[in-house]
Amino acid sequence: MHLAQQTVLVVMMVVFSSTLVMAAGLVLALRANEAGRLWAVGHVIASGAGLVVAASAGAGSLYLGALGAGAYVIGRLTIYRGVRIYYGMSEQAAVLRAIGLVAPVVIVLMSGLADGSQVVHGVAYGVLAMISFATIVAMLRSVRGRTSIGGPLVLASQLVLLASQIAALGFGAGFKGFKITPFFLQSDGSIWPLAPLVAVLLGLFGFCLMSMEQIIARNESGARTDALTGLLNRGALDMTAIGMVARWQRDGDALSCLVIDVDHFKQVNDRHGHHAGDNVLREIAMALDNSRRASDIAARYGGEEFCILCPHTDEHQATALANRILRKVRAIELPGAKSHASVSIGVAQLHGGPTSREGLWRSLFADADRALYQAKQRGRDQYVLASSMIDEMPVDDALQSATQPQMIA
Ligand code: GH3
Ligand code: MG
Ligand code: MG
Repeated sequence: MHLAQQTVLVVMMVVFSSTLVMAAGLVLALRANEAGRLWAVGHVIASGAGLVVAASAGAGSLYLGALGAGAYVIGRLTIYRGVRIYYGMSEQAAVLRAIGLVAPVVIVLMSGLADGSQVVHGVAYGVLAMISFATIVAMLRSVRGRTSIGGPLVLASQLVLLASQIAALGFGAGFKGFKITPFFLQSDGSIWPLAPLVAVLLGLFGFCLMSMEQIIARNESGARTDALTGLLNRGALDMTAIGMVARWQRDGDALSCLVIDVDHFKQVNDRHGHHAGDNVLREIAMALDNSRRASDIAARYGGEEFCILCPHTDEHQATALANRILRKVRAIELPGAKSHASVSIGVAQLHGGPTSREGLWRSLFADADRALYQAKQRGRDQYVLASSMIDEMPVDDALQSATQPQMIA
């Protein structure tokens, strides 16, 4: 296919006006997502700048072209800043702002020189190539990009842009007697000038996907965590527990559960107010979280009630965790009086039975909950092992359970 220069300019106008409209909509849609907002704003600036550059080529005005190129650099720097934020890198806002200020001013000033077009194109392509390179490096260094669908699309678009920028600089410098020609002014009629335009579209689509992925991931984690303490909530505890029971069925590894209830917590609220009570709950949650091993999961399943699930742990090993928790919570000072917080803990190990995973999880929790009740009865600030309670059944209950099989028979 043989492309006239005019066709390239028309395609350029169509692409940049489309990305301008799409990105303007995304500024609103992604305003709550910092990286997404920067990407959308960056694309609005870059698309507007692209239209100015296309118009300048039609009008043959280098000054207008330089203004467009300067604005385009600002747009791409804004997008790059969004990439740094997305991947949790330092923003380097001051450096990026300085480049965004100096590069456009140099580009516009150089357009007044005798052979200004070469310097304008050279500086613009040089800075843009550096931004593309920095974006690619940031994305390749991040582990997070590897699990994304939008990330590889953006990476591909940045590689095409970098290739076209290097080609413009290298080809211009090497073969055309230092005559750098932007892609849309090349007159050999090839279709290659369309590649960077396709890359711009692909990049916007990829950035949009990356923002959506981040929003979905945050919503999912928000739905799983308890807002007050940051521990897992009850729904997430149930789901994780059933997964752990399935692993217990498969591998036969021990699985233990601690059910934890704050002692006399109502008094804390009554004496010092709900807000002070919330702070104590947060501190206790932190103590639990810091006591557990990485493979344990900690959840707040009710008001002042918590649960820790410990895979690969039998009940005697779980008592070490219970002791650690008791010690850490005792160190938490309650507001006002010189007293300290305490918790009661029920510890149980899953022993099984021919029942469903949900049934097994319910029975493990119920065992630990019964042991917790015992710990409260015995005076609080202690743990009780569910297995130790079999010997301590009230006489009436013991008699009843002893006679039951005979009655059934
Ligand atoms: P016990 O030692 O028998 O467990 O006594 P308790 O006072 O801790 O138990 P009770 O069940 O009587 O009271 C629990 C209190 O926890 C009542 C409720 O106001 C408080 N609570 C539940 N959820 C929250 C919360 O999110 N924030 C605050 N501040 N308090 C809460
Ligand atoms: Mg309670
Ligand atoms: Mg309580």
